[in-house]
Amino acid sequence: MDHFLYRDGTLYAEDVPVADIAAAVGTPFYLYSTATLLRHYRLFEDALAGTEHLVCYAMKAASNQAILKTLAEAGAGMDVVSVGEYLRARAAGVPGGRIVFSGVGKTADEIRTALEGGIRQFNVESEPEMQVLSAVAESTGTSVPITIRVNPDVDAKTHAKISTGKSENKFGIPIARARDVYALAASLPGLEVIGIDVHIGSQLTDLAPFELAFQKVAELTEVLRADGHDIRRLDLGGGLGIPYTRSNEAPPLPLEFGALIKRTVGHLGCEIEIEPGRLIAGNAGIMVSRVIYVKSGEDRDFLILDGAMNDLIRPAMYEAYHDIVPVIEPEPGAEQSPYDIVGPVCESGDTFAKGRLMPKLSAGDLVAFRSAGAYGAVMSSEYNTRPLIPEVLVKDDQFAVIRARPTFDEIINRDTIPEWL
Ligand SMILES: *Cc1c(COP(=O)(O)O)cnc(C)c1O
Repeated sequence: MDHFLYRDGTLYAEDVPVADIAAAVGTPFYLYSTATLLRHYRLFEDALAGTEHLVCYAMKAASNQAILKTLAEAGAGMDVVSVGEYLRARAAGVPGGRIVFSGVGKTADEIRTALEGGIRQFNVESEPEMQVLSAVAESTGTSVPITIRVNPDVDAKTHAKISTGKSENKFGIPIARARDVYALAASLPGLEVIGIDVHIGSQLTDLAPFELAFQKVAELTEVLRADGHDIRRLDLGGGLGIPYTRSNEAPPLPLEFGALIKRTVGHLGCEIEIEPGRLIAGNAGIMVSRVIYVKSGEDRDFLILDGAMNDLIRPAMYEAYHDIVPVIEPEPGAEQSPYDIVGPVCESGDTFAKGRLMPKLSAGDLVAFRSAGAYGAVMSSEYNTRPLIPEVLVKDDQFAVIRARPTFDEIINRDTIPEWL
């Protein structure tokens, strides 16, 4: 459920007409709903009620500081995968004690910054990283709490580019080697081994792979405890999928995910962390774009939008499907025709949808890409010297620009010309 609904024949974000925001901000832009963000965050809170837990929002999904602050004020922690994300979370007011640091390639500099600034734990992904982490912690005179990310060799049955829990993926250490790696970690002076971490992929639409992975984590917990490790925290990652179409997909609900966690690892008495990103932000954001031209091709019509693959890369990168709806609500039973919906970028990959049935649209009409809140704005670029599009946040009947569109001067002046030219 989200808060982008038609009212009086036009699309609203909470209590604000989307067309009003488009008039004020210009198109294209991202638009987020506070109520939807909070609703999704609270679904996870409710799902884990009765268990000691922290919901760490995977901020790579959508990392504007206004979004982070909204969630942090509701009690969320953050899962960060770079020092940039760490600093951004801190700038948004998230305490270090609520930030977990994930990622396969943390550098010594990144580690030092997070250690000095305060961190809840590092999720370590390799032995060499462990050595560096221990050395940096020792040099700052502290020892740092860690979990080790294990790769359970489970097929998440999602798109290959967002599957992370198979042995062929670069993530984590093979679960079969866990005992050796934990023994090494325990021997390193700068590390305090407190738990296990797992994250098997993104946009999972079935609980079965989670169940397999969590069962393996539960077994490993017992084995490691028998080896003398004080395993007291389990970070079970993110990855729960969202419906991108409103008709045929019904991914499991956070409540079912929470019940699965309690069933598989609840008996261990560990504190639970989860790292949902997409489910919190995905359906809490839309991308609003305007039709520039309707062009008749030989055998099809093209809707040419002012939004493009540099603004929302998911269709080009993952063959992702986004519902695209007109901002003016179509009359019931209105005639529909197929369009190829494309952006102005000079690549055929700049195609959002082929043969998509839409009501008749004309130049100047507004459309909204639904489910664009996660892995949308954060993956955008200035390819074709198209400015990064603004982000706007709605709360009830208010809206605010939370990232402004850069001017062309700002973009152009970022280049510097060497003195020999
Ligand atoms: C990307 C990522 C997540 C979030 O995944 P979603 O599918 O957005 O929930 C969580 N944890 C880690 C380590 C990640 O890399």
